[in-house]
Amino acid sequence: MFDDLLTTTPLSLTVVFLYGSLFGSFLNVVIYRMPLERSIVAPGSACGTCGTPLVWWQNIPILSYLLLGGRCHTCGAGFSARYAGIEALTGLAAALLLWHHGEIGYPFFHHFVFFCFLVAVFFMDLDHWIILDQVSLTGLAVGLLGSALMPFREDLMIEGLGTPLLNVASSLLGAMLGAGFFWSVQVIGTLMARQEALGTGDIKLAAMIGAFLGWKMGMIAYFLSFILGAVVALPMMLLHRRRGKDPVPLGTFMAVAAFLTAMWGHRIFEFLLAWPEHLGAWL
Ligand SMILES: [Zn+2]
Repeated sequence: MFDDLLTTTPLSLTVVFLYGSLFGSFLNVVIYRMPLERSIVAPGSACGTCGTPLVWWQNIPILSYLLLGGRCHTCGAGFSARYAGIEALTGLAAALLLWHHGEIGYPFFHHFVFFCFLVAVFFMDLDHWIILDQVSLTGLAVGLLGSALMPFREDLMIEGLGTPLLNVASSLLGAMLGAGFFWSVQVIGTLMARQEALGTGDIKLAAMIGAFLGWKMGMIAYFLSFILGAVVALPMMLLHRRRGKDPVPLGTFMAVAAFLTAMWGHRIFEFLLAWPEHLGAWL
């Protein structure tokens, strides 16, 4: 019974999805309240329009939104579907990570916690154009310490150091390379465009990503963020003719790129290495 719950079975995937959606519910509170400098612990959830506190059956992830038909039980004001969306997304990510890792061990938790930090960054940056230090710097610490518990990453070899220390060293290197790289882009970009190319929040986020992924996967994530940013932002800028005004928040792309790398980083790396061959076959 318990063995079944720890590996990939329909039951374990369902249980992990349900637990994941509870974390999604907490993430909603974090995303909504933290930028407003309100407590994420108290008071409990309430309707944003009439202020009536939600009772237990109105506070179940995903299900309550469906039961209430997306409206407050007291005043009938509409709730944003995004709350249920984030709950479903977080549940799905937990199930996907279990399926990916094959068992509930530390790597599963490491990547799920990483995902939660990235979801908070994604929506806060989208809504408010900020990446809070409480999120990125806490993530940096959790990523560095958690790396000690990960299996050997094989991206750093120093004689005499065991796996935990090597992993932490790789994470520290990743955090420094990420922060250094984004800081350089900020300095050069600001000089060339004569306006801030990216914010200090993005530099701290890069450090957090490097800490969770280690230096090699971190580099792939940074590279992928700029590709995603270019592919999505350039057509938007051309369509709206915004030209530099109202830049798309880079943190949202970095969050997506980081999760893709956590899941499929090795495949992305192989694909990038094989590019010259692909190009050669075309020409
Ligand atoms: Zn209400």
